[in-house]
Amino acid sequence: MTAQEIGADERLSGRDATDRTGRLATQRDHDRVLYSESFRRLGAVTQVAIGAPETLLHNRLTHSLKVEQVGRSIFRFLESEGLMPAGADEWAISTACLAHDLGHPPFGHAGEEELHALVTCDKHRANPRPLEDRKKTRCRECDLEDGFEGNAQSFRILTALAETGHTEADDDLPRGLDLTVLSLRAATKYPWLRGDNPEKSEKWGAYDIDAEAFGVVTRGSQKLSFEAESMDWADDIAYAVHDIEDFHRTGHIPLDQYMATGLIEKENGEPEFEPREAFIEFLRYVEHHRGPVSEEAQAELLATTVQFPATRFTGTTRDFKALANMRGYLLELFIGRTTVEGDALKRDDIANEVNKALKQLIWYHVIDEPRLTNIQTGQRRVLREIFNEFKETTEQVALDWKRGAPPSRDMRRLPYALQKYLTIALRQGGTYDRKQRAYRALLDFISGMSEPEAYRTHAVLKGLEPDGRLDSK
Ligand SMILES: [Zn+2]
Repeated sequence: MTAQEIGADERLSGRDATDRTGRLATQRDHDRVLYSESFRRLGAVTQVAIGAPETLLHNRLTHSLKVEQVGRSIFRFLESEGLMPAGADEWAISTACLAHDLGHPPFGHAGEEELHALVTCDKHRANPRPLEDRKKTRCRECDLEDGFEGNAQSFRILTALAETGHTEADDDLPRGLDLTVLSLRAATKYPWLRGDNPEKSEKWGAYDIDAEAFGVVTRGSQKLSFEAESMDWADDIAYAVHDIEDFHRTGHIPLDQYMATGLIEKENGEPEFEPREAFIEFLRYVEHHRGPVSEEAQAELLATTVQFPATRFTGTTRDFKALANMRGYLLELFIGRTTVEGDALKRDDIANEVNKALKQLIWYHVIDEPRLTNIQTGQRRVLREIFNEFKETTEQVALDWKRGAPPSRDMRRLPYALQKYLTIALRQGGTYDRKQRAYRALLDFISGMSEPEAYRTHAVLKGLEPDGRLDSK
């Protein structure tokens, strides 16, 4: 079956074994993601690690489950309003929500930046060239000019690295979880290769080595599918709501200080809230860093602060109830302001602005926090030193590799997971040379670690810990 012949409800491999329990194709996609090792790993990957071990915070696994809940709620809401575009697929949205963070490396955004910096030159780190130019001339300074990106890594996991029992182990082109094109399209938030969309050059949806599968999924269109828009909005909602909840609990975001006070009666009899000093200061920060917030959105944002907890979090029943109340209010606000235009999902402008502003609370109080900067310097070092430790050997093994020949001694001495990823990269099609395949596999290996695994691997390599279980995955 050629790429052109694969329809949206078909799998990349063209295979579709019958299901004895009557599940739909996209429902099986959902279940494959849910049961995958890559999904389980997210339980040991943080959003922003600020170091508050006594508090149970969201990790990327619980975050993904909540994104799925929000995604389904959006679908149900639009359906109940009679707004659902024909053919929209609820299971594809669910699948995309579960899968959207699979490619996130250890240590969140800092980890992502470090892995990207390791393989790109100073020039191309922030200024990518389109694929056409990369094909014509290769940059000698970049190890991988298509870099590292969490979304591209998610696509690679879904289509090449993760395993399902439904494809042959010796397939020449690996298929990953062999999802339907519909679900893969739903999981694609940035439907272009690196440098192919000048307006959004800092994000991309796949690496050059995965371009063939990516082409089958996007068919050259840079437009998001309805399902992908739903996933994207669900992610923004869950992120804003659950992260401010977490950081209120740890004491980093003092939501109680934002709560509007003093109900003033306007001339027309409507209530008006009086903002607190902290709110005004914060709004100034948002407008400075993100641009102006409309008057309507400011009023809506101020109204949401009335739903914030009134006191600092100490773990009392009242504290938990206050958080649950705020969470319910915000989820309803955002989901209830979703609509459809043509066949595209439309976020109400005010809801979108309020969402963006709430997310800025995390930057204001957490990400710009000096202690986090120190933690991240250490985390970057962990990833960098693991990469450099394995770089030369992996490169040499890739150069010596012969299809069908028994693995060399050096290959056998690499960590099992790295051997696996290297074999996949070497057998895959695409335009990469041997060295590029080696670096891609090394990034697959490191980005596929949980955070404890990354710390432990680093400690063992540095001789700080004797019990190396490098082969534990
Ligand atoms: Zn370069």
